Amino acid sequence: MSQTARRILVVDDEQRVRQAIERVLGESGYEIITASDGRQGLEMVAAHAPDLVLVDLMMPVMDGMEFLDQARRRYPGLSSVVITGFATLDKAVEAMKQGADDFLAKPFKPRELKLVVERALKRAATLQDISIEKSRTRALINAMSNGVLVVNPDGEAVLANPALLNLLERKEEGVIGQPYQEVVPWAEVKMCLAATLRGEERKPEQARCVCRQGDDEDALHFQVSCAPFHDARNAVVGAVAVFDDVTAWHRLDQYKSQFVTTVAHDIVSPLAAVQGQLQNLGKGLLGPLEEAQTVLVERARTRLQGVADLCRDLLDLSKIEAGAMGQQSRLDLAPLVQEALKVLGGPAEAKGQSLAVELASGLPPVLGVAEEFLDVVLNLVGNAIKYTQDGGEISLRLWAEGSELLLEVADNGPGIPPEEQDAVFKRFHRVRTPENRHITGTGLGLAIVKRVVDNLHGKLSLRSQPGQGCRFLVSLPAA
Ligand code: ADP
Repeated sequence: MSQTARRILVVDDEQRVRQAIERVLGESGYEIITASDGRQGLEMVAAHAPDLVLVDLMMPVMDGMEFLDQARRRYPGLSSVVITGFATLDKAVEAMKQGADDFLAKPFKPRELKLVVERALKRAATLQDISIEKSRTRALINAMSNGVLVVNPDGEAVLANPALLNLLERKEEGVIGQPYQEVVPWAEVKMCLAATLRGEERKPEQARCVCRQGDDEDALHFQVSCAPFHDARNAVVGAVAVFDDVTAWHRLDQYKSQFVTTVAHDIVSPLAAVQGQLQNLGKGLLGPLEEAQTVLVERARTRLQGVADLCRDLLDLSKIEAGAMGQQSRLDLAPLVQEALKVLGGPAEAKGQSLAVELASGLPPVLGVAEEFLDVVLNLVGNAIKYTQDGGEISLRLWAEGSELLLEVADNGPGIPPEEQDAVFKRFHRVRTPENRHITGTGLGLAIVKRVVDNLHGKLSLRSQPGQGCRFLVSLPAA
C-alpha cells in the first residue's frame, strides 16, 4: 500500500500537538492537514475528504464528540482515531461506541502514533473494499433483467431487485421484511424456496421450477432457480431465487406445436382418401391391372404410407409434449402390453421371428396415460421386428424391482453402433447402414419413447453391440 496518497486530518486545539503529529506522520510520507477545533474540522472534511481523522476529544468551539457525531452523520464511512489528553478510558470507550476506530492517549510516543494510524488506515481500506464490492454487486443485481429475490433463514425477503418488483407489481417497501410466502404468489416457487431453506440435497433440475403469471394468452412464463447461501460452518443462512423470463421460448414452442398439429392434421384426411382410392385401384375395382401397373400402384401406396406414418408420429409427439394424449390414471401395464402385442404378432410372424413374452403377475400400477404407454411398447417392439432379420429372436419382459417397474425389449438383430446410441433418441435421427437401407421409418419412434418415459419420471437405456442385437430397458416408478 502506498502511503504517499493517504491524507490525514488532525483536529486538535493544541498547536504543539498538531505540529508534533504533522512532523512524525509527515516523515512517514502521509499528507497532513490540520484544524484547531471541531467546526473547522468539519469544513476540512468537506473540502479535502481525508482518509483518516485524528481528533482530540477536549476542544473549544466544538468538542471531539460533537465533531465525530456530525462528521459520521454526514460521511458514514469516515475513519477516525480519538486522542484523549486525560487518558480517561471511559471517554475513549464512549467515542469508540460512537464509531471511532481506535484511540490514542496523550502523551504518546511517535511509534505508538504510527502504529495506530497504520492500523486504522488498513481497516479503512478493507472497509472500503467491502463497500465497493457491495455496491458493485448491488449495481449488478439492479441492472439484471432477471428477477432476483433473496431471503434470510427465517424466509423474510432481504433483497428484491427492480426486475422482480416490476413482475410482482409491488414497491420495495412492501416486500422487504415480508415472508416469501406473502411476496411470491406461485406455489411452485414457494415449494422450491422452502426446500432450499431446509437445506435439502437436490439435483440442479429439482432446484428449478416453472411458473406462470396471468391466465390468458399473454401470460408470462418464468423458469425459477433457487440456491442456498451457506455460512463458514456450511449451515444454510438464506436463499436466492432467480426468475428467468422464458415467455418467448414458450410461445415459440406453442406456435411450433400448433403448426405441426395443423399441418399434420390437414394432411391426414386427404392422404387416407388417396390411399383408399389406390387400394381400390390395386384390387382391380376399376378393371384388371397389368403387372407393371400393379407394381406402380403398390410403390405409390408404400410412399404414401411413409407420409401417413410421419404425420401420425408428429401428431403423437406434439400431443405428448402438450400433455394432450389424455388424463393420467393408474395403469395396469401387463394388459396394455398384451393389447400392443395383438397388433405386433402378425408382422413378427410374417418375418418368421420368435416373440418370447414374460409378464410377471401382481405388478403394481404406474401413473400414466394408456395411449402413451402403448406407444412405448409399439415403438420398441415394432423396431425390434422391423430391424431384426427374418427368423430372428425378439423378447419382451415386464417385472418389478423394489419400487420400480421394468420393461425390457431385446432382439438379436444388427444392433446399433456405440457412436449412434445417444443420437437414436433424438428426433428424425436414423442410422443408415447398407442392410437397413430399404427399411422405411420416420426417425421419431425412439424420440416418442424417450419423451413418454421422461414425462413419467422414468429412465430409458440402451445396450447394444453391433451384430449382437439391442436391449432397451425402461424403468418406471410404481404409483
Ligand atoms: P425409425 O425406426 O422410424 O427410423 P426410431 O426413432 O424408432 O425411428 O429409431 C431410430 C433409429 O434407431 C432407427 O432408424 C434405427 O436405425 C435404429 N434402431 C431402433 N431400434 C433398433 C433395433 N431394435 N435394432 C437396430 N436398430 C434400431
